Amino acid sequence: MKTYTLSNGDQMPALGLGTWKSEPGEVYKAIRTAISVGYKHFDCAYIYQNETEIGAALSDAIMTGEVNREELWITSKLWNTHHRQTDVKECLNVTLKALQLDYLDLYLVHWPVAHKKDVIFPQDGNSLVSLRDIPLEETWKGMEEVQKAGLVKHIGVANFSAKKIAQVNQSASQRIEVNQVELHPLLQQKDLLDFCRKEEVILTAYSPLGSRDRIPQMKAEDEPDLFEIPTVKAIAENHNCSPAQVLVAWAINRDTVVIPKSTNEARLKQNLKAANIQLSTDEMNKISNLDKHFRYVTGAFFALPGSDYTLANLWDE
Ligand code: NAP
Repeated sequence: MKTYTLSNGDQMPALGLGTWKSEPGEVYKAIRTAISVGYKHFDCAYIYQNETEIGAALSDAIMTGEVNREELWITSKLWNTHHRQTDVKECLNVTLKALQLDYLDLYLVHWPVAHKKDVIFPQDGNSLVSLRDIPLEETWKGMEEVQKAGLVKHIGVANFSAKKIAQVNQSASQRIEVNQVELHPLLQQKDLLDFCRKEEVILTAYSPLGSRDRIPQMKAEDEPDLFEIPTVKAIAENHNCSPAQVLVAWAINRDTVVIPKSTNEARLKQNLKAANIQLSTDEMNKISNLDKHFRYVTGAFFALPGSDYTLANLWDE
């Protein structure tokens, strides 16, 4: 498995397993299966509400000697309710307890959006707290504290623009090491990729397969299907693999981390195998031409009237 080197020499595996929408009742089996077929990297979050079951699976796999804690790469994310500097540790402790771990390999600020502390999902503008009241720099101080305390090895962000990364890094004592954003052939974010390369920020691709299992309320009516793009299909035929595997391979061939979600054994295996597919320069160029700047995860659930948040200032575009 290809890995990327962080500033202290730690190696982050290029492919991990996404766990958003991996339901309690199925996620235990998915994690045990993933470990048994060779996955080492798991992408979790407080808000996915399945960390207790993931923790049971990790703990059982470690206890049976199938894998060591040190071989695993576990990421989780701070939810928007805990952006105050003094609240970061509280959210992290819930995650560590659920996952049955002493430390995380990577902890991310999930969104550049703050909620009132008792509001898990915002319903109206009043549920949100302006970044003028809880600046991202304050949240980052809390992230630096938990890293210093040894509770997490690396810290980073998700859904951050280049502008927000630069803003936080300006006053940071520990710079942002990873940014996790939506990336696939229809949303290639080449400027962000270039910026992150220059700033030595590893970029992780979420929803690499188009996040097809989102609830209907989170989907637009006319969403494109990445598996049906003729260029993707033709490359898949050429490699005798599936379109999903081309999408995973593309992400790794352009030097990003990728975290496809699956709870199905055959697809877990398929996605892992895709990490070794080498696409040609010609194939990479053909996919490069597909960009449409199309988001599946639009962030519209935060752009609520009566709050400071808009899609324009969320993505800075
Ligand atoms: P995704 O990985 O793009 O797509 C998951 C969907 O694709 C599921 O329906 C899955 O079904 C299906 N699938 C998986 N492998 C397949 C294959 N080989 N062939 C056909 N279908 C396949 O969607 P995602 O869950 O949105 O994104 C991946 C991960 O990124 C998340 O789980 C989460 O960890 C992370 N993420 C982070 C953020 C953030 O804000 N930081 C946002 C979104 C996602 P089965 O399970 O039935 O296989």
